[in-house]
Amino acid sequence: MFDKPVYIGRFAPSPTGPLHLGSLYTALASFLDAKSNQGQWLLRIDDLDVPRNITGAAAQILSTLETFGLHWDASVAYQSESLSIYENALTKLAETQTIYTCVCSRKTLATEGDCHCLEKQIDLNTLHAYRVRTDQRLIEFNDRLQGTVISNMAEQDDFILKRKDQIVAYQFAVVLDDAIQGVTHVVRGYDLLELTPKQIYLQKLLGLATPVYMHVPIIMDAQGFKLSKQTLAEAVSLKEPQKIIFQLLQLLRQSPPQALKTVCLSELLEWAIEHWNPEHLKSCHSIKQFAEPS
Ligand code: GLU
Repeated sequence: MFDKPVYIGRFAPSPTGPLHLGSLYTALASFLDAKSNQGQWLLRIDDLDVPRNITGAAAQILSTLETFGLHWDASVAYQSESLSIYENALTKLAETQTIYTCVCSRKTLATEGDCHCLEKQIDLNTLHAYRVRTDQRLIEFNDRLQGTVISNMAEQDDFILKRKDQIVAYQFAVVLDDAIQGVTHVVRGYDLLELTPKQIYLQKLLGLATPVYMHVPIIMDAQGFKLSKQTLAEAVSLKEPQKIIFQLLQLLRQSPPQALKTVCLSELLEWAIEHWNPEHLKSCHSIKQFAEPS
């Protein structure tokens, strides 16, 4: 008998506010996928973008996940604890001349279109960002729900790895974070699909493994807007977690039987792990919050 391949999954919320139904939906999908594969489900708080962090949000997210029975394995990781790892990776890329300094302001980019810092001598005493050079290669990967994605790196801008305000960009951090945690399977929202080729490009530059990706649909409100902090999606109610998990299972198209409406939360989650089938979400990009039960 062969051992089942290792599965390490993760949920990586940013502490910019409480979880709303859309973020809980993604959390549940990644939890069920990990647990149904006898995997580990890790939790990481993406707290690098300090100006956007809200005091108390991380603690609130943890307690919300617990209320919903989504218990994570191992201790919680915080990006802010990995700053030296990001710096080392940046140095490694600098040695291979794949990054360069950029002093463009939003205004220069708006007037000049592209960044031309690569051709200029930059005074390193001025505040500067770091960009990675994109080359001609094609990045191709197979998303478990969305199919084959091919992206020509030559058509992508040289993107920012570290911002002028010295904050490490999400694109760069996420690649290293997933590697640090040994993540093998990433389950996250469809809105991040288009950023994935850039992340795979960075994995290749840094000699890191590429996890298996699955981008699940995003939840839209009645007006067709993505539930998000920007659209002021409400914090998920903690009053009846079992009822909400039942609703989320419907939105994940798992067709929970009506009889499960009255079972306790842990029994409902057990059923969901045992019956988890993401194939029902194949090619789906978004789902309405108040969709008819499937
Ligand atoms: N922290 C990111 C967010 O909340 C998610 C990162 C990821 O799953 O790759 O949108």
